[in-house]
Amino acid sequence: MDVTIDKKLKDLWKLQQIDSRLDNLRAVLGELPMEVADLEDDIAGLQTRVSHITTEIGELNQEISNKRIAIKDFERLIEKYDDQLNNIKNSREYDAINKEKEIAGLEIMSAEKRMREYGKQIELKEETLTNTQNALDSRNKDLEFKKAELTEIEKENAEEIDKIMLERNTADGKIDPRLHRAYHRIRGNVRNGIAVASIMRGSCGGCFSKIPPQRHSDIRAHYRIIDCESCGRILVDQAITGIAAVDEEKVEKTTRRKMRLTTK
Ligand SMILES: [Zn+2]
Repeated sequence: MDVTIDKKLKDLWKLQQIDSRLDNLRAVLGELPMEVADLEDDIAGLQTRVSHITTEIGELNQEISNKRIAIKDFERLIEKYDDQLNNIKNSREYDAINKEKEIAGLEIMSAEKRMREYGKQIELKEETLTNTQNALDSRNKDLEFKKAELTEIEKENAEEIDKIMLERNTADGKIDPRLHRAYHRIRGNVRNGIAVASIMRGSCGGCFSKIPPQRHSDIRAHYRIIDCESCGRILVDQAITGIAAVDEEKVEKTTRRKMRLTTK
């Protein structure tokens, strides 16, 4: 065992652990603002809907009062025809006025029919309006809650991130420049941000490929830094990670879940 290599591996693993914690905190922070933005979109859509329906109801009410005015006009016309019929000169004139009176009566009936139709349309629209308004109220409550949650988590996370960043600076300073470059290059290339992977049940903890037995014992020997042949991640064994074999499965599950999340 090379003491220098042993120390280098431990320092790298430490930095990886810190960076993974930071990655997780930032991932949590990344999802909530999206949820808030989705809710805000929903609310804007519902508000537009409410305002459209309200306008439509207003227009229908306007139509109804127009019809009411028209009916009044026809009623006045009918009164006028009745007066004329009382002072009629001949039967031709009588027929003509009666015809006009009949037309006015039909106009009134048709206007009343339209008013009933508009009334029914208004009822339906008011029902939709109530439902939309209820949905809007409930989304607004959700938003209020989510925003409060976001502010709280942002505050907590910011404090936590500041604390971890101090730890990170110390851990980062211990890595030699060549390894430092390699570490960041690998981290930039992989999806789950894991540049230093632990061996899990004989496989790479980053990509889960099997590690050949000879390579496995080389890794355990700590005499040089060895990467995974499949993914290029730096591999470390249990002596470095301190993860007991029984915990490996748990770690593997978490890593696999994280990979699925980040691949989406
Ligand atoms: Zn690998």
